[in-house]
Amino acid sequence: MAIDSSNPTSDSTPTNAELATRASEVLVGNYAPQPIALVRGEGCWLYDAEDRRYLDFMGGIATAVLGHANPKLREALESQAAKLWHVSNLYTTEPQIELAERLTSSSFAEAIYFCNSGAEANEAALKLARKHHRDHDDDRFEIIAFEGAFHGRTLFTVSATGTPAYWKGFEPLVPGIHHAPWCDEEAVRSLLSEKTAAIIIEPMQGEGGLRTPEPGFLRRLRELADENGCLLIFDEVQVGMGRTGTLFAHEQEDVIPDVMTLAKALGGGIPIGAMCTTRELSRALMPGTHASTFGGNPLACAVASVVLDELLEGGVLGHAKSMGERLGDGLEAIAADAGPDQIRGVRGRGLLRGLALHDSPSAVIEGCRGRGLLVISAGDNVLRLAPPLTISADEIDQGLALLREVLIESN
Ligand SMILES: *Cc1c(COP(=O)(O)O)cnc(C)c1O
Repeated sequence: MAIDSSNPTSDSTPTNAELATRASEVLVGNYAPQPIALVRGEGCWLYDAEDRRYLDFMGGIATAVLGHANPKLREALESQAAKLWHVSNLYTTEPQIELAERLTSSSFAEAIYFCNSGAEANEAALKLARKHHRDHDDDRFEIIAFEGAFHGRTLFTVSATGTPAYWKGFEPLVPGIHHAPWCDEEAVRSLLSEKTAAIIIEPMQGEGGLRTPEPGFLRRLRELADENGCLLIFDEVQVGMGRTGTLFAHEQEDVIPDVMTLAKALGGGIPIGAMCTTRELSRALMPGTHASTFGGNPLACAVASVVLDELLEGGVLGHAKSMGERLGDGLEAIAADAGPDQIRGVRGRGLLRGLALHDSPSAVIEGCRGRGLLVISAGDNVLRLAPPLTISADEIDQGLALLREVLIESN
């Protein structure tokens, strides 16, 4: 192991480089992490192994909605930790009921299935679609998804993912999945048949590059699904929980799905996913058909209930909406000053925004990191920003100023 002996702290506190070396020796190399190791966080700030601080404009990939080490979430976690951690779903636990009550009272959903990640939530949604039709003596099994979509890494969800790079080498994929070009209504029409079980779509694409559907498109999908007799699934794993300015992104289009999936921000950083549906559709998953050992774990549910309370009653949702507008305006100004040769456009909604660049954003990401700002990328050369929803106006402005330095002033 390469230890820099000139580093006075190397005996007690490992450096970023030491931690990177150790990680590469024992972890599967499926990630290509940034060259810093993060050790603690507070609010919108993160600190690395060498105690350098960073303004967090990525929120653990749109997950740390209430910032880091949020006192209310800590209190919820610690008080539940003193009571009960895990008993499985062979028994009823109240934190799970309380979270489901909050989700059903704040959405179209009447029944919730809990799991631990976005992929599992989508896996449950896709399996529910097949099983629902099977229970009605209907052989529908095909799924219509969209190019550029990201639905997860299990075999079913990666098969529904619309970017070949995610599934190359893992074939054969789950059969019967078709991809329509983004927002191509005619393509959806031609793919629909008496075999279609469901259409799955993100109300705004996250990984795919923060692409928003044209106004009215989600409503057209609702009509097409109803005419055809298939289900409509909204994958809100990334855009749900206040990220785009409303609690759920589909509220902005005034259209209701049959199934909605949540994960990322749901637990504010604690792993939890949810498949939300109607009572009638939920009947497809009768005892024995689908399950998760950890799903609805009391620790995760106790924390997630506080996340929802903070969004809906603690004023975070309204705050996030106005901070989202501030961020959007700031990005528009940067794009105007940089010009179309450098920035192709501003993408996204609320506090999930991005700048479409001409090539890979990796140099910009590195430049930002060097100045103490953490940002990430998304599909087709988009620089993606997803700060905690609790971010202050001053922190938004600091982040925008650093971004401006990297994109314009240092060029
Ligand atoms: C991240 C993401 C997933 C997968 O979630 P995991 O928790 O990584 O399994 C699914 N769908 C969307 C839209 C996502 O952004």
